[in-house]
Amino acid sequence: MTRESAPPKIKVLLLTGQSNQWHNWKVSSRALEASVSADGMFEVDTLVTPDAGEDFSEFAPAWSDYDVVLLDYEGDVWPRETQRAFEAFVSGGGGLVAFHAADNAFPDWPAFNEMIGVGGWGGRGEDAGPKVRWRKGKMVLDDGPGVAMHPDPFEFLVETCAPDHPVMRGLPEAWLHAIDEQYSQLRGPAKNLTVLATAIAGPEIENGTSENEPMLMAIDYGKGRVFHTTLGHVGANDTETPAAMKCAGFLETLFRGLEWAATGEVTRAVPDDFPGTEFPEVRA
Ligand SMILES: [Zn+2]
Repeated sequence: MTRESAPPKIKVLLLTGQSNQWHNWKVSSRALEASVSADGMFEVDTLVTPDAGEDFSEFAPAWSDYDVVLLDYEGDVWPRETQRAFEAFVSGGGGLVAFHAADNAFPDWPAFNEMIGVGGWGGRGEDAGPKVRWRKGKMVLDDGPGVAMHPDPFEFLVETCAPDHPVMRGLPEAWLHAIDEQYSQLRGPAKNLTVLATAIAGPEIENGTSENEPMLMAIDYGKGRVFHTTLGHVGANDTETPAAMKCAGFLETLFRGLEWAATGEVTRAVPDDFPGTEFPEVRA
């Protein structure tokens, strides 16, 4: 009998350091670092950018040292040279996971908008591209009016749209997510985009769109893979990890997204505590 050695860990660069006025990267990045490190599949380096308004001229991460970049950042624009290096990393086969408000970042960087598929805020208007809708079992691009918004946080069902995608394989058709913001009416180029899961805020919810809004997405960018999770809001004044980021459904889809973005495959089993539709499963 041979004893197989453990597979090498997936190398994750957690890139953080600035939030817009609605978020707190210190709390969200601490939670991401802790949960992704503790999972066992990943080795995480955290890189904190300069503060808002500080000098970014030396900001040039060693992208190629990593399998996947986990982006928890919405702030100052990077130098063009750094943007180009990042574009080359992802288009050359690197992985990117865009976490929640990372899709608020860089509205005027066309390549970034292609990577995330759709985004919101930060000045993104109706000219940012169509909204992504899921109607009658397929994706529809909607050029109608409206820009990014969300109802007040609530518990909502996340529904699988692409059960055969590696990230979603084996997961339930629907599961109840812990209280969170439900991003709505995100807009962007939406090229090479697969809707993995949606959620809906019906007429009983104030500011609900009654549309199946994309919550989890997969985007091909050149040879690279991007997993975009809109879940995981941490408010500007939050000091503790919110339930949204301790939700077993949020965490397992994040881990699967990281593995898939890094390798193109998902080898993970569905955890016993993955939520069903009755109540959310919030980890300690
Ligand atoms: Zn948020």
